Amino acid sequence: MTASRTRRAPRNSLVGTFSVVVSLLVVARLALLQCSSLPGQAPPATPFSPSAGASFAPPSEATRPAPRGTEACVSSSVHVALGTPSDGDPSDEYFIDERSFVLSYSPEKRVPNWVAWQLDRQHLGHVRRRNDFRPDLALPARFYRVQDSDYAHSGYDRGHLCPSADRKDSAEDNSRTFLFTNIVPQLHELNSGPWEQLESYSRARVQAGALLYLVAGGLFSAPSPTIGNGVAVPVANFKIMVVLSPGQGASDVNENTELLAVLMPNQRGVGEHEWTEYLTTVDAIEQASGYDFLNALPERVQRVIEARVPAAGELRAGRRPSGRAH
Ligand code: MN
Ligand code: MN
Repeated sequence: MTASRTRRAPRNSLVGTFSVVVSLLVVARLALLQCSSLPGQAPPATPFSPSAGASFAPPSEATRPAPRGTEACVSSSVHVALGTPSDGDPSDEYFIDERSFVLSYSPEKRVPNWVAWQLDRQHLGHVRRRNDFRPDLALPARFYRVQDSDYAHSGYDRGHLCPSADRKDSAEDNSRTFLFTNIVPQLHELNSGPWEQLESYSRARVQAGALLYLVAGGLFSAPSPTIGNGVAVPVANFKIMVVLSPGQGASDVNENTELLAVLMPNQRGVGEHEWTEYLTTVDAIEQASGYDFLNALPERVQRVIEARVPAAGELRAGRRPSGRAH
């Protein structure tokens, strides 16, 4: 980029060339500061292309990258193709495009409000589980960054929202699921019980040919119990899963599209239950959380599919859950 640009710079003046290079670096640096996630990763594609022309004017209002942490940073991601969950109050939401998934983080509760991800077969590789739980440096320094010590001896597991096993295609992809912005305190019996059973079921559906759109998060009491340095413990976790086929997107969702929604208590005894006992409606989750989900779909489609609960007997075959909890 610098090479092609400098070729267009005035050749008769070293000073001129130098100032063009410096302004380019400044522009590139500013672009990096917008919507960026982890330092050291390549920045997300910026709306202005270096090859677009010889003009060095700053991007116009229309094409300028959205300020970090705003909804605009995630809304064009495939992971929220069916809608960016919205509760009409962005004051306690810091949005991050982690590329492997997107999320809204609550600086107040110190856990994600929700995490959304698309799951298809390409995500199910065989890389080793990284287990590198760590603070998310995409959060500005003014926010507390949750770390391992917050969960140590808390009695709660570091529960993934986007599961590690849903991102096995590359080491980087898997590693990002261990950012604490994707983690909530979950009782082990929930994490290793019905919550994990549903995770396994969704991967079995993908292995059988489905493309899934998932969103998961927590419900909180006010005031919320906390662990460590003020990390809120959800009273329940929800998950919404829309079942499509590869190549399909929002415009393919209709009144007959298969959808599953669950609400599982983060309470003692939960481990004795099957995940299918926690099936509910999206409407119930919307009411309890204050969020509107699937809001990119037509109102009439939302009205039908958000009110439907599949009977456990209607669920399509997925392998029976097995294996260890994560
Ligand atoms: Mn909705
Ligand atoms: Mn888990």
